[in-house]
Amino acid sequence: MTTVEAPESHLRENPFAIAREQLARVADIFAIDQRLVNILQECKKALVVSIPVTLDDGTIQAFEGYRVTHNVARGPSKGGLRYHPDVTLDEVKALAMWMTWKCALMNIPFGGAKGGVVCDPKKLSRGELERMTRRFTSEIINEIGPEKDIPAPDVGTDGTVMAWIFDTYSMNKGHSVLGVVTGKPLNVGGSLGRLEATARGCLYCIQEAVRKKEQGLEGLRVAVQGFGNVGSFLARFLAEEGATVVAVSDSTAGLYNPKGIDIPAALAHKQETGTLRGLRGADDISNEELLVVDCDVLAPCALEQVITRDNADRVKASIICEGANGPITPSADEILEDKGVLVLPDILANAGGVVVSYFEWVQGLQEYFWKEPEVNSKLRDIVTRAFNETWHVSEERDIAMRPASYGVAVGRVADATITRGLYP
Ligand code: NAD
Repeated sequence: MTTVEAPESHLRENPFAIAREQLARVADIFAIDQRLVNILQECKKALVVSIPVTLDDGTIQAFEGYRVTHNVARGPSKGGLRYHPDVTLDEVKALAMWMTWKCALMNIPFGGAKGGVVCDPKKLSRGELERMTRRFTSEIINEIGPEKDIPAPDVGTDGTVMAWIFDTYSMNKGHSVLGVVTGKPLNVGGSLGRLEATARGCLYCIQEAVRKKEQGLEGLRVAVQGFGNVGSFLARFLAEEGATVVAVSDSTAGLYNPKGIDIPAALAHKQETGTLRGLRGADDISNEELLVVDCDVLAPCALEQVITRDNADRVKASIICEGANGPITPSADEILEDKGVLVLPDILANAGGVVVSYFEWVQGLQEYFWKEPEVNSKLRDIVTRAFNETWHVSEERDIAMRPASYGVAVGRVADATITRGLYP
């Protein structure tokens, strides 16, 4: 598992305030009824739990955990679970709202949710992590379930954590419930292709974007921030497609080589040592420098708010693919738009993960599992269709891809809300 080390919070602005501001802006552009905005700007449910855990030295520590459901108008809520020392309730609320839009944009039958536990998973032993996960699952057990709310991995969590949630939930129900979480290991009902799915979705979006510019991936210079699930697979796929990955980074190191970094070597080094630090054949750069290196495509795949009004005007890439959720602040967005940078927004660019999570949920409910090419080709269809719907709205209304994607997504959730009516 790759986790993050961040002694100071990476959050400069309140992410939930940003998410609401984005919604207000889109409601304005697309003339969405204020009465609907009043519903959509709130989270349906936010649970805060205390998770007491006996540590290996016999002491007890109570961790704080969150599970937030933003909206269920289009189906059960879906969203990742983050283990990170900086997690806040407002961050989880923002991430839950973005999940609602992401699922709607992909046109899959889910609403949005997110969860988090304030902890540093790197500092916990495997046993401590397991006990914390199982207790957290027990604390939220009445709120999750295949028809209700379905967690998945996010920063600091992985298939092992999902397996513990699946097992704890199933033990309490008395039978195996495959549909309760996605991102499970393959031997307990995971889907082929899920591990790589988010990065694959990013790749498909970049391919569509360069195609619109009548270019190809061959020789395109790419910088990738974050070398975890999303960033490392994206760097690998881009290199395999002939792009030159000029810079990569994780929380401990940044590397730059204008002739291209040897990605298989970087993956092996990270696997062996747990860090990119010490990889030969590239110069050291800081994470701040990585964001402004000379390249064609920049893919921030770590945390939120890394491109801000302080560095946006120095970004050299002509395409930014948001592998991470919320890596660009609204003020940076404006600067990038003025510069003519094509931003592939998070709810489009990193939606591949939730799409294959949807496939995993369907396979789990049917107990019938698909071959990997089938998963990948269905993923490509869905992401490419969403890309082209967004592109069309962006051209038609002469607006950037982010408001265009939100317009499509929020419109779908608003429509579902109107069709269902407001209970009672
Ligand atoms: P991960 O824990 O596997 O990897 C995170 C990576 O970011 C690690 O390599 C870490 O070292 C690096 N990192 C942390 N702080 C950094 C910093 N300041 N500078 C540079 N690198 C830093 O997490 P992940 O699952 O790859 O998620 C990354 C982002 O993608 C998150 O924003 C997450 O919400 C988003 N996302 C993930 C998925 C998924 O399926 N995993 C789906 C959609 C979106």
